[in-house]
Amino acid sequence: MSKDPEGKRNRLGIMGGTFDPIHYGHLVAAEMARCEFDLSTVLFIPSGTPPHKNSQDVSAADLRYEMVALAIKDNPAFDLSALEVERKGLSYTVETLRILRRTWPEHELYFITGTDALLEIFSWREAEEILTMIQFIGAARPGFDASDFLLKVEQEHPETQEKIHYLEVPALAISSTDIRLRVRHGQPIRYLLPEPVRIFIQQHGLYVTE
Ligand code: ATP
Ligand code: MG
Repeated sequence: MSKDPEGKRNRLGIMGGTFDPIHYGHLVAAEMARCEFDLSTVLFIPSGTPPHKNSQDVSAADLRYEMVALAIKDNPAFDLSALEVERKGLSYTVETLRILRRTWPEHELYFITGTDALLEIFSWREAEEILTMIQFIGAARPGFDASDFLLKVEQEHPETQEKIHYLEVPALAISSTDIRLRVRHGQPIRYLLPEPVRIFIQQHGLYVTE
């Protein structure tokens, strides 16, 4: 069903990322956005070959996909999409969004990012086109203050202002980069990510070497 009993359009959250590995920063941002914006589902979409990262530096897509599956399985409002993982070549968000737009024609689409990614959205391929299709939710991330960005949007892109939302969340200074470094240096990662993901990393010997 695409409309709720009051006739409002259902809302789909989209959480894109490399997820190498997925951690509690991603999960908290998705869950707070789900609740605050009344999203019926948050769809996690692990990237295939990320356009902005050197592909040799990124773990195989099937491993990253598997880790997301383990991390979200206890939340009935979270779902997983293989859309980008299965697509050959580079995955640009605009292409993914066109597919999602066709798949959920009746839903309002909300793309969830951290503030680091929010600051970059105007440099995305076909950014203006993207802003006609979806709304953005930028969840607070330590070290990335969005206030200058939001001011700039207000002054320079007023037409998009109502499509870009800032979301205060209990900010977590967790990053996949830090988790990978910790594993390499033999430091603990427990409590930074769901336990099944930590065990998966251990079992597959991920991130031990550069
Ligand atoms: P890396 O260090 O490899 O870049 P990452 O931790 O930034 O990894 P990504 O997969 O790059 O994770 O991020 C996917 C999305 O999740 C991005 O929109 C990013 O801003 C957001 N995100 C990641 N970590 C956090 C966090 N701790 N708090 C809020 N948002 C986050
Ligand atoms: Mg990142």
